Amino acid sequence: MDRKLFEILGFGVDSFNEDEAVGYIVKNYGQVVTINPEMIMNAQKQPEFARIINNAELVIPDSVGVELGLKILGHKVPRIPGIHFGKRLLKYCADEGKTVALVGAKPEVIELATKNLTEEMPELKIAYRHDGYFSEDSQVKSEIIESKPDLVLVALGSPKQEFFIADIKKQLPSTVFVGLGGSFDVWAGVVERAPEIYQKLGLEWLYRTIMQPQRFKRIFPTLPLFVLKVLKERVSGK
Ligand code: UDP
Repeated sequence: MDRKLFEILGFGVDSFNEDEAVGYIVKNYGQVVTINPEMIMNAQKQPEFARIINNAELVIPDSVGVELGLKILGHKVPRIPGIHFGKRLLKYCADEGKTVALVGAKPEVIELATKNLTEEMPELKIAYRHDGYFSEDSQVKSEIIESKPDLVLVALGSPKQEFFIADIKKQLPSTVFVGLGGSFDVWAGVVERAPEIYQKLGLEWLYRTIMQPQRFKRIFPTLPLFVLKVLKERVSGK
C-alpha cells in the first residue's frame, strides 16, 4: 500500500484509515507524527520543525481541527486519535513478541502507565523506559538505541517529542516511533480520557480545556486562526 497525502498549509497528511495506518507503519517503520492545528501553526514559524514533519514516514490527523481543515479543502480523511493509535501499536507488539520503549511524563506517571499497560497486556515486553524530565537527552537517546526496541513511544509534548525522535530514528531503521503528547498521563489514570460522547464528536480538546482551563491559552486563538488560514488557502486555491 502506498501513501496518499493531502496537503494542508504546506504539510502532507496521510489519508489512511486507522487499520491501514497501523498496517503501513509496522511494515515500513519510521516516525509517526500525530498532527494537530497547533503543530501546523508552530511549524510554519519553525523551518526545522516543518522539515521534521515533512520527513516523517507517516502523518496522521490526530485532531478534529485537521480533519475539518482537510474537509474545507475538499478531502475526507478519518481522524486517528494518537492515543488510540499508540495503544493499537502496543497491542500489535504484545501479540507479535516485539519490544517497546516508553519515554516521557513524570516519573510516577510513567511508572503507573507501565503498570497499567502490562496488566492489560501481560505479554508486552518493555525493553526500556524513562520519564520525560532529564537534563541530558543524549544519554537517554543512546540507551534507547542500545535497547533496540521495535516501537518507541515518546510523550514529551510537541515539538520536543518530534525533535527527539528525528534525532535517533536513523540509528534504528527498523523501529516505529510515535510522539504521543499527554497519552501516558491518560494510561496512568492521572488524566481521564474524555467521555465517549466527546470522543465520538471529536471534541476531546473541548473536554480537556474544560477540565484544564490553562489549556485555553494554547487552543485560542490558534484554532480559529488555523481555520481562517485554511479558508484563505481554499479561496486562493494554493
Ligand atoms: N513532558 C515531559 N517532559 C517535559 C515536558 C512535558 O515528559 O519536559 C510530558 C508531560 O508530563 C506530559 C506530556 O509531556 O505527560 C505533554 O502533554 P501535553 O498534553 O502538554 O501534550 P501536547 O498537548 O503537547 O501533545
